[in-house]
Amino acid sequence: MAGVWVFAETVDGTPKPVVLELLTKARSLGDMTAVALGPGASKSVETLGKYGAKKVYVHEDGAFRDVLATPAVELLARLLAKDKPDLVIFGMTYDGRDVASRLSARLGTALIANATDIGAKDGGWAIVSPMFGGSLLVTTVPKAKGPTLVLIRPKAVTAEPAASAGAPQVETLTDPVDTSKPVARVLRRETEKASGPKLEDAAIIVSGGRGLGAPENFKMLDELAAELGAAVGASRAVVDAGWKPYSFQIGQTGKTVKPTVYIALGISGAMQHTVGMKGARTIIAINKDPEAPIFKMADLGVVGDVHKIVPQLIQEVRSRKGK
Ligand SMILES: Cc1cc2nc3c(=O)[nH]c(=O)nc-3n(C[C@H](O)[C@H](O)[C@H](O)COP(=O)(O)OP(=O)(O)OC[C@H]3O[C@@H](n4cnc5c(N)ncnc54)[C@H](O)[C@@H]3O)c2cc1C
Repeated sequence: MAGVWVFAETVDGTPKPVVLELLTKARSLGDMTAVALGPGASKSVETLGKYGAKKVYVHEDGAFRDVLATPAVELLARLLAKDKPDLVIFGMTYDGRDVASRLSARLGTALIANATDIGAKDGGWAIVSPMFGGSLLVTTVPKAKGPTLVLIRPKAVTAEPAASAGAPQVETLTDPVDTSKPVARVLRRETEKASGPKLEDAAIIVSGGRGLGAPENFKMLDELAAELGAAVGASRAVVDAGWKPYSFQIGQTGKTVKPTVYIALGISGAMQHTVGMKGARTIIAINKDPEAPIFKMADLGVVGDVHKIVPQLIQEVRSRKGK
């Protein structure tokens, strides 16, 4: 059976949501090993096992948290040379991208980025990546020497615990980490205060575009989101204009979301936006232009002015809730 590894990023011992997605995919492709690095990483072992990891490498050195990429690359290069897996999967996160690209240069092996699916093919791998904002799907079958490295987009796979999973074999590493070479260090971490659900996890997203006209008009989106228990998102036009921080941006260069309901308000539906939200189960669009591209993908489209419709929508939701 193929050896498939997952770079299991953790935060204080909790695997990032994308890791559970990677594990779900990886276990369908072969015998899976997870690599969890940083302080508290051993706390993640139980969850990694639940999602199908048969073996987990753990190294708890603080350097994996405080020094960008290089310690993880050094360690992975060493472990890969020893165990020789066929495939290594990373999440398309900032750290995942950093580590995978350096590792690819170090090993002289293929790295396929931005993938949404992987399948076995002729003793190798067939990797699917969307191109041109998702209008074309390209399948790549790397011929370079192994292991093949793949960066998978968050939300490309639905995370599910394995039907039958035993406790994984754990190998705890304690060898010293070399941080003497020039490295980029994390000097400070800032946690953004947020209310309501996280954009990536929200079941309902209320998202605003340039059609809102001004930053203060996002107040009505906040009100609607509060009534619906939704998260607020935004298009890049809004972020570029400084109306909302980058953490709100959905799309090719922002977040990928997969809510049950996505409400697009004053968003035209450029492919760079829709690639980040087209996985939503139901898409509702309100736009004053009947020709707006967003209507081509919307399940429910309302042609009209957001400034008139959204306040009425808030009122209607409140009255149905008996407020
Ligand atoms: C490399 C690259 C990466 C990109 N990455 C992203 C990305 O990650 N995310 C992203 O969103 N974009 C991204 N973009 C930008 C993208 O191409 C679009 O420019 C952007 O999505 C447009 O944002 P918008 O829909 O808010 O604005 P616009 O395209 O200006 O659309 C505004 C819409 O609001 C409607 N409108 C105006 N007034 C009202 C009103 N009163 N009521 C109702 N409707 C109204 C208009 O009819 C229009 O359809 C990227 C572009 C490039 C080149």
